[in-house]
Amino acid sequence: MSGPGRRPQTTIFTTMSALAQRHGAVNLGQGFPDESGPAHVIEAAAAAMREGHNQYPPLAGVPELRQAIAAHQERWYGLTPDPADGVTVTAGATEALTAAMLALVDPGDEVIALEPSYDSYKAAITMAGGTLVPVRLEAPEYRLDSARLAAAVTERTKLLLINSPHNPTGTVLHRDELAAVAALAVERDLLVVTDEVYEHLVFDGREHVPLASLPGMWDRTVTIGSAGKTFSVTGWKIGWATGPAELVARVQDVKQWLSFASGTPFQYGIAAALGSDDGFYRGYAAGYQERRDLMVHGLEEIGFDVYEPEGTYFVTASVAPFGYGDGLRFCLELPERCGVVAIPTQVFYLDQSPRPVVRFAFCKRPEVIAEGLRRLGAGL
Ligand code: PMP
Ligand code: GLN
Repeated sequence: MSGPGRRPQTTIFTTMSALAQRHGAVNLGQGFPDESGPAHVIEAAAAAMREGHNQYPPLAGVPELRQAIAAHQERWYGLTPDPADGVTVTAGATEALTAAMLALVDPGDEVIALEPSYDSYKAAITMAGGTLVPVRLEAPEYRLDSARLAAAVTERTKLLLINSPHNPTGTVLHRDELAAVAALAVERDLLVVTDEVYEHLVFDGREHVPLASLPGMWDRTVTIGSAGKTFSVTGWKIGWATGPAELVARVQDVKQWLSFASGTPFQYGIAAALGSDDGFYRGYAAGYQERRDLMVHGLEEIGFDVYEPEGTYFVTASVAPFGYGDGLRFCLELPERCGVVAIPTQVFYLDQSPRPVVRFAFCKRPEVIAEGLRRLGAGL
């Protein structure tokens, strides 16, 4: 694989964050908060370190965290994964996704995913020898068309890879859309992997409904979560897969050959974090809703065509009003032109031809968002 001329292939996030650093730009690209999570969470991890929890955790994760993940799912959704064999802790949601694809997809299988789709999906499916079959969510509404979804199923379809709240569009699938996914999965006997890492980031009184909670879904669904988003600790890389013991065991069998296990003290920190009171979770969503509004209104005032998100900490917007048909060119020019970094959404499509839509992250302090908007307004 290596040899003369072989260059490292970095993800768009690495590329754009490097550009942000080089230009001293406001980084509204890669989705990581610019503040640490709650003090009691940081302290719980630090205490675990001081108390000597510094060696390998068990393969499935420390019992305290598996209990906390199961309790969190019961408290919020009435789901009851068994902490003993229905939960496996992973090195972020990324590892859970990759392990799930390697475990459940065989060479030649097709995996249907919403498009645009988070960049690791295609990589993970390809590593498993499968093929990603995209089902488009179209701007400005980004709704899931159930007829389009059904039409994508062939005899080779093995599983549906769903993501809600959805990166990069910010769409939160509504109950009728989820019901259509569930009905199709049952009718065509498909497995489902559902990436719900933004489960607590839904706005305007909307509700996050886990696919696994729909009738007929529990036995065929692996649910993937991550602590990085909810507790603003993306660098800890603590994620998980939950579901019926048989499917979780298959994910875990692969995970043991990827990382085996990781992050013992962070696992204790997240075990404490998941038990945070309702006020924390409500304040988290409300705080991001304010930042969403700041970003959406600011971008609109500057002249972007903005597609308001229902959840996540991302917003997409068209750069066509500024004469651009190619979001990648816009994003490559933006750091020098305005001192701001954004992500072109074309990288989240199988066909990466130019598209005029870019993604801004608003997981930044309000004053940083305001400064990003000021620079955009001055430079565009
Ligand atoms: N899924 C989605 C939709 C994401 O946006 C991300 C990262 N932001 C991940 C998975 C990966 O999560 P983690 O950092 O826990 O690996
Ligand atoms: N998930 C984060 C985003 O969408 C980035 C994670 C990464 O850097 N790979 O911005």
